[in-house]
Amino acid sequence: MMNISLTVPSMLEHAEKYFSKKEVISRTASGITRFTYADIAKRTRRLASALTKLGVKRGERVGTFAWNHHRHLEAYFGIPGMGGVLHTINIRLSGEHISYIINHADDRVLLIDAELVPLIEPLQEQLKSIKAYVIMTDDDKLPDTTLPNVYHYEDLLNEADENFEFVADIDENDPAGMCFTSATTGNPKGVVYSHRGIVLHSMALGLTDSAAVSESDVTMPVVPMFHANAWGLPFAALWFGANQVLPGPMVTPKLLAELIENEGVTLTAGVPTIWLALMKELESGSYDTSSLRAILCGGSAAPKAMIRTFETKFKIPFIHAYGMTETSPLVTLSRLKSYQTELPEEDRLEVRSTQGYVVPGVEMKVIGKDGEVKWDGHEMGELLLRGNWVADEYFMDERTNEAFRDGWLHTGDVVTVNEEGIIKIIDRTKDLIKSGGEWISSVDLENALMAHEDVFEASVVAVPHDEWQERPVACVVVKEEAKDRINKEDLMEFLQPQFVKWWLPDDIVFMDEIPKTSVGKFLKRSLRDQLKDHLKTTI
Ligand code: ADP
Repeated sequence: MMNISLTVPSMLEHAEKYFSKKEVISRTASGITRFTYADIAKRTRRLASALTKLGVKRGERVGTFAWNHHRHLEAYFGIPGMGGVLHTINIRLSGEHISYIINHADDRVLLIDAELVPLIEPLQEQLKSIKAYVIMTDDDKLPDTTLPNVYHYEDLLNEADENFEFVADIDENDPAGMCFTSATTGNPKGVVYSHRGIVLHSMALGLTDSAAVSESDVTMPVVPMFHANAWGLPFAALWFGANQVLPGPMVTPKLLAELIENEGVTLTAGVPTIWLALMKELESGSYDTSSLRAILCGGSAAPKAMIRTFETKFKIPFIHAYGMTETSPLVTLSRLKSYQTELPEEDRLEVRSTQGYVVPGVEMKVIGKDGEVKWDGHEMGELLLRGNWVADEYFMDERTNEAFRDGWLHTGDVVTVNEEGIIKIIDRTKDLIKSGGEWISSVDLENALMAHEDVFEASVVAVPHDEWQERPVACVVVKEEAKDRINKEDLMEFLQPQFVKWWLPDDIVFMDEIPKTSVGKFLKRSLRDQLKDHLKTTI
């Protein structure tokens, strides 16, 4: 067989040839603009040419600090296309972590959204490797800034070559991208994506039993382009010729609902907190969401009650997926097998709310106390993964030795597997609640609480306890309209029949909001800090 390098620029060349009329609908600070893939391809070639002129060399990192929009998409293809490495930086990290990752990645050029410049200005003294800041703006003029060596993205493109030839001799194992995990403890860990990994992962997103991204789709990644490459959707959508909506800065649930309706979005993707907020919006407003063929939801466990509401009330199919920054990220999707479609509705929902089984191309095993666990849906163990789009190290980081051993990525996620090979995430190792030597799943308790009609969000954490070592405490945000009618006792009563006694939370704390991580997950570390003396003071 022939052996042709799988490269990121070849994906763009394909779209340029076959899908030149298809569209990117991009929302930036100044509004929505439509581009064809022919426009995007020319602009991407210009960007690759401009970065070459700026002196970026093969293998050097170029950072992006941006929302989801067309310029970010151009960077996705233009940077690897000129031989550089696309380093997407999480704009919601602390200043300390942002400088750490820019320095650790040794970024040469930084592409920044104009409205995000104030986040970078205070860090400039520490950013020694950056030779040029390129500001992405719709304004003709550059914003006032204290940053040195500043360029205007559009000016650079105007002066560059729209026929620039992408680097021809890319080895498919060369780095094309890089992303840091958002670190719950210590410094963020860098993951490098190869051209080959990105191409194979994109192909997996196109499989019928996976996300089935196709030419007829209108995709809208709500997941940020700095969070595991927006789960690979921008790469796959462009390659397969789907129209794509990039929803830009300061996304609100209302804006999402409007974009879905106005642009006929067919496939969208994001973390559960986004969909909880959209659910609230759909309940209060009147929107036509009939174009949606699926919501892809991952990043943390999707509550069963939410899946039920989307599917039964709004008739929007839900695909629950699991992955990590280290795995590009797609690992499993929860799809019914053909013989499961006849199951009673509740059983089907039960299957759909698990994380599902691995997509072809990824292998897993689950290791418990005594080796590989039985596929019985009960025995728990740590999930280990390997595959062609799974990283095999952290970028120049000794934590590689803990996570990557014997050819497997040790995920730190505790799961059960049933006889179908379907995994259910019980918890992250660090979030499991260890009570009197037994484990309690915070995810199960959260799911149960979020199934209560008056609960908007719930997060359950381990709180130190003198006798039992740790006990669960639930943090609950109640729906606005239910504030006066619900109390702790009601919720306890609601939980009681569903769990054995020792699983029930020792307390329920009502909050106005649950703190979130930089990528919109419940920030359990902060809740644990807030509540660390809680059981000493209240009980
Ligand atoms: P971070 O570590 O910053 O949260 P990632 O997005 O890479 O960054 O997180 C990956 C982790 O998210 C997984 O290891 C797992 O714990 C959790 N996760 C991802 N998808 C799901 C899901 N569908 N259900 C439960 N947990 C999930």
